[in-house]
Amino acid sequence: MKLETTYKSNNYPIIIEHHALNQLHDYIKNYQDIVLVIDQKVENEWSHITDFIASEYEAHKLIVPSGETTKTLSFYEETIESLLSKQLTRNTCLIAIGGGATGDFTGFLASTLLRGVDFIQIPTTILAHDSSVGGKVGINSKHGKNLIGAFYRPKAVIYDLNFLSTLPYSEILSGYAEVYKHALLNDIESVNHIEAQYSDEQALKSLDEIEYYLYKGVQTKLNIIVADEKESNVRKFLNLGHTFGHAVEYKFKIPHGHAVMIGIVFQFIVTNIMLNKSFNIAHYVNYLRELNYPLDIVNDLEFESLYKLMLNDKKNDEQGVQMVLLKDIGDPIVRHVDYKTLSKAFAEFKSYFNK
Ligand code: NAD
Ligand code: ZN
Repeated sequence: MKLETTYKSNNYPIIIEHHALNQLHDYIKNYQDIVLVIDQKVENEWSHITDFIASEYEAHKLIVPSGETTKTLSFYEETIESLLSKQLTRNTCLIAIGGGATGDFTGFLASTLLRGVDFIQIPTTILAHDSSVGGKVGINSKHGKNLIGAFYRPKAVIYDLNFLSTLPYSEILSGYAEVYKHALLNDIESVNHIEAQYSDEQALKSLDEIEYYLYKGVQTKLNIIVADEKESNVRKFLNLGHTFGHAVEYKFKIPHGHAVMIGIVFQFIVTNIMLNKSFNIAHYVNYLRELNYPLDIVNDLEFESLYKLMLNDKKNDEQGVQMVLLKDIGDPIVRHVDYKTLSKAFAEFKSYFNK
């Protein structure tokens, strides 16, 4: 499946399929220098592929530490100095082969190397269907995640689904939270459809039909960010589940999507209280259990410290915590939520997990 972004200019293709790498040639044939920036774990599993690309295109290979550890200023400095020592020209393309961390890092490198060179994303995780779309690139600061960065679009996203076959289940679960979030932002049919397809761990592990759901997820995200490229209004909807989720992620250092799924459940409880709705919370808790999300940490959650973390969320303003709520499935809204409501929702949230 292939999509094209629909910005006013500088559009790029997003190809999502098994064997998508066969199309890489069309996008890189004219560069003088090519650098493959490859996540270490991906390299461990897929060196036969990366070696092939490197020899076919006389590309440099740069293996970077697995996951989040690449997204530091010191590693950025080391890498950019090493790239500059290769006397690369401006006609260079950096190709990220890895998950969201490798993509964010490589995109940031590309945006700053010689004031900007081209880059291409080859995502290898489910979560990267989210991170590779939207043009946000960056690294972490000691003051917080993703605080050093830019908006910088790739020339292409070539999402070869073959890579997903080596992904551990824990990473499938992490990425699936964003796929599910996109369905919730879409409409009730999307949610019913995806819950039926991936009804338990075994079904999700199989990744049957994942091409379709990733395509739908990318399309949903694209529609939102094209409407609002600079995160003022509708882009906030993409934070569904993230206010509470980020606090849980920060506190317990669990994979992003595991925390987002918990945040999505919390959001439904707040929605029921604030918007007078009757979403069936037990249904969502049960769905997380069926998929086997690790939920033991819920017992250790404690309101006051999470509240402080929610207040720190960069999406807030002086009026306190802001959350994305769902007036209905597919109909998000951003609301301030006060301490009392959050605290009440939290007590209810805990009660569901004690059963
Ligand atoms: P990741 O890149 O850290 O990858 C997760 C883990 O999977 C790592 O250990 C990695 O080594 C391993 N891995 C990757 N591909 C594999 C494969 N095919 N087989 C086996 N192992 C593999 O994380 P992620 O979950 O893909 O992305 C999270 C990152 O994305 C965070 O840094 C987050 O800030 C960023 N993000 C960015 C945006 C954005 O808009 N730019 C949006 C969401 C998330
Ligand atoms: Zn997220």
